[in-house]
Amino acid sequence: MSTLHDVIDPATEQVVSQVSQASAEEAAAAVSRAEAAFPAWRAVAPADRARLLRRFSDVVDAHLEELAQLEVSNSGHTIGNARWEAGNVRDVLAYYSAAPERLFGRQIPVPNGLDVTFKEPLGVVGVIVPWNFPMPIAGWGFAPALAAGNTVVLKPAELTPLTALRLGELALEAGLPEGVFTVVAGKGSVVGNAFVESEAVRKIVFTGSTEVGTAIMARCARQVKRVTLELGGKSANVVFADADLEKAAATAPYGVFDNAGQDCCARSRILVQRSVFDRFMELLEPAVKGVVVGAPGDEATEMGPLISAGQREAVAAFVPDDAPVAFRGSAPSGPGYWFPPTVLAPVSESDPAYREEIFGPVVVVAPFEDEADAVRMANDSEYGLSGSIWTRDVGRALRVARGIDSGNLSVNSHSSVRYWTPFGGFKRSGLGRELGPDALDSFTETKNVFIDTTS
Ligand code: NAD
Repeated sequence: MSTLHDVIDPATEQVVSQVSQASAEEAAAAVSRAEAAFPAWRAVAPADRARLLRRFSDVVDAHLEELAQLEVSNSGHTIGNARWEAGNVRDVLAYYSAAPERLFGRQIPVPNGLDVTFKEPLGVVGVIVPWNFPMPIAGWGFAPALAAGNTVVLKPAELTPLTALRLGELALEAGLPEGVFTVVAGKGSVVGNAFVESEAVRKIVFTGSTEVGTAIMARCARQVKRVTLELGGKSANVVFADADLEKAAATAPYGVFDNAGQDCCARSRILVQRSVFDRFMELLEPAVKGVVVGAPGDEATEMGPLISAGQREAVAAFVPDDAPVAFRGSAPSGPGYWFPPTVLAPVSESDPAYREEIFGPVVVVAPFEDEADAVRMANDSEYGLSGSIWTRDVGRALRVARGIDSGNLSVNSHSSVRYWTPFGGFKRSGLGRELGPDALDSFTETKNVFIDTTS
């Protein structure tokens, strides 16, 4: 039996909706429908599958503002971010709509015949999504999976199901057949678990914490089920003495406090060359204090609340009363799960705030001596997802970028995500890559066929 779950607006603490949480039996039934829909979906002619995905993209575009407003009230995302996120779903669908007609195999020279490879879809793909970017992370899974001919069951996070459920309706409106893309809201331990355990689900795309991802990978191993994992991060923003310090300091808050720091790519360790450390801190203070924190629906707001009371508690635990707070920004008082942008310095390299993913608007700043020290400190983490390098020296930028064990680095900027370039983590930040031209490979199996031409 499904149960009803309150969906809360984190900026007001008001209930915005009630969503039915599926039972394990209902999740299994959705998987069965996806399994039944698979043979017909994989057989849809490439141009027709492409057209359906383009239509899905167009329908998302037509509902962009509605989806964005839904995310503002469900997740507390700023309206500017939420519009970008809905636009990202549209763009990812449009990008992968080009894939069905370009799912090329190879013809490989062999004696006595012809050898060709095919990229076959896997079957049912289960996508499990966290609460921090409900729309983009869903789209990065379902768009390439569908394009490659798989059917998809998707579970949003308990806290943030509204936009995913709406995307499921929009898929049907765009003409995708029933069962091809099904959104099943519910608990990780119930619906997510049903996806992981089902023999019919041939692949899990999981984004979330390293702890849950590791356990899912172990359970998938029993069935040799394919996995893509996008997990935690503790990324470094490395600022060299020769950098444009004004720009590095002005942008650093947005590299970590975007989405209230609830971003796997948050540059939550700022490493600054010792010779410019004090100057950098002088420049950083007004930048942090200038971050506009407030009602997420206001166009001028740059940072909204945390997602839940529990998340606020978890973040606050990294800032005890005796924490070395260098300076803080502001946050509204009253209802809502607010937490001000907070800068900790000096911190030791063994401090939990330095080592652990905080997933909130708290950043540590620490000095380094030279290039080798910067790379050592950046790599001194179990994670390896993202990071930034600020320098005017091109050679150094490239050396350091090659030296840091991280999947997504940017030089003199804080960008991590473009839907047409690969995204994913080293070490415990994940396994596999999403987005970009190669994502289709992780939603297909390569089949090799030899045809004897001698007789
Ligand atoms: P979480 O691991 O608690 O949950 C993620 C999803 O897994 C949710 O939908 C949850 O219901 C489900 N789940 C929980 N237990 C499960 C189980 N036993 N079986 C199957 N599914 C289960 O993570 P969260 O708190 O929602 O998200 C925050 C984390 O996500 C952070 O660590 C963050 O770094 C990470 N993240 C990573 C990326 C990336 O691309 N690398 C992107 C965004 C978020």
